[in-house]
Amino acid sequence: MSRILRVILHSRPGKNGEPTPENFQVQEGTLKIDLKPGEVLVRTRYLSVDPYMRCRMNEDTGTDYISPWTLSECVEGGGVGVVESSSHDAFSKGDTLNPQLVNGHLSYFLGAVGMPGLTSLMGVREKGHVTAGANQTMVVSGAAGACGSLAGQIGRLDGCRTVVGICGSEQKCKTLVSELGFSSALNYRQGDISAALRESCPDGVDVYFDNVGGPISDTVIAQMNQDGHVILCGQISQYNKDVPYPPPLSQETQEALLRKNITRERFMVLNYMDKHEAGLLQLSQWVNSGQIKVLETIVDGIEKMGEAFCSMMTGGNVGKQVVRISD
Ligand code: NDP
Repeated sequence: MSRILRVILHSRPGKNGEPTPENFQVQEGTLKIDLKPGEVLVRTRYLSVDPYMRCRMNEDTGTDYISPWTLSECVEGGGVGVVESSSHDAFSKGDTLNPQLVNGHLSYFLGAVGMPGLTSLMGVREKGHVTAGANQTMVVSGAAGACGSLAGQIGRLDGCRTVVGICGSEQKCKTLVSELGFSSALNYRQGDISAALRESCPDGVDVYFDNVGGPISDTVIAQMNQDGHVILCGQISQYNKDVPYPPPLSQETQEALLRKNITRERFMVLNYMDKHEAGLLQLSQWVNSGQIKVLETIVDGIEKMGEAFCSMMTGGNVGKQVVRISD
């Protein structure tokens, strides 16, 4: 028998409620290890907490591609581990994902060389219409988070002249400019962001990588140029509200999109599975060569999963929020 710890969904925040760490509970148990042919036992190294999990906390996720978590059942999420024992021909003890792809940082498989990295890359490439040499200005909201911090760097690598980030603190703004090479960054919690955006984007906005929705996006869309493109990645500012996805836009913003012929198509990374392998190799090459800088916020211990999730939902993270489970 092995001792195990698992996180269960203890209670739901309610459709219009903010999640709290108390919605989760850590349970101790034992596991009889008796591998059947084809099974492997994996020791978890890192777990991911992601915004989509907020929908899974509701009784109804509001989408057809993810199901709600069941109360008192173990919650699911992405992770990275090492094979402890194996009854599968293709796996042996000690196997893990290829560390060379991530410069030895296995947690990057949950971020820059994983789902968030692919989201940023596919989003920019499939919906951004970025053209090198076209002097485009890109704005990224949620810019200091996992997807945003990568999307801005990819926009720059793909040829945008100006890349402006919007995020929730002065410190994050400094990091975006000094460490990640953003042209400038704005703190949406301070001052008049419309005026600050106009100053940062004197030629208007051509491409908008939208992670947050709500009033921030209304402000950006109001300053977009004719024939611009919104990459509709996520709308985190609306995730604690009982609204469908994507949430309805104000009439003014809808009119601005129509008048300026701006595209704003729904985007889902899972719709591009055939491009994921090549995408991961591209991300790995950028990370290993230092062309993309990776930011992470790591907390230790499965007991901290609920706290880490709630902290990420309220901006406590810089870059990808990860929970380290074991060394
Ligand atoms: P992040 O690492 O960006 O973490 C979430 C961030 O959102 C926080 O750090 C916080 O930063 C910001 N935030 C929270 N509440 C608000 C608010 N009310 N207004 C503005 N900003 C807010 O998460 P991810 O990178 O994992 O996800 C980013 C977005 O991408 C999410 O909307 C997610 O749903 C979406 N996504 C979409 C995918 C797709 O296939 N379309 C796949 C993966 C993710 P701050 O300090 O700046 O407020």
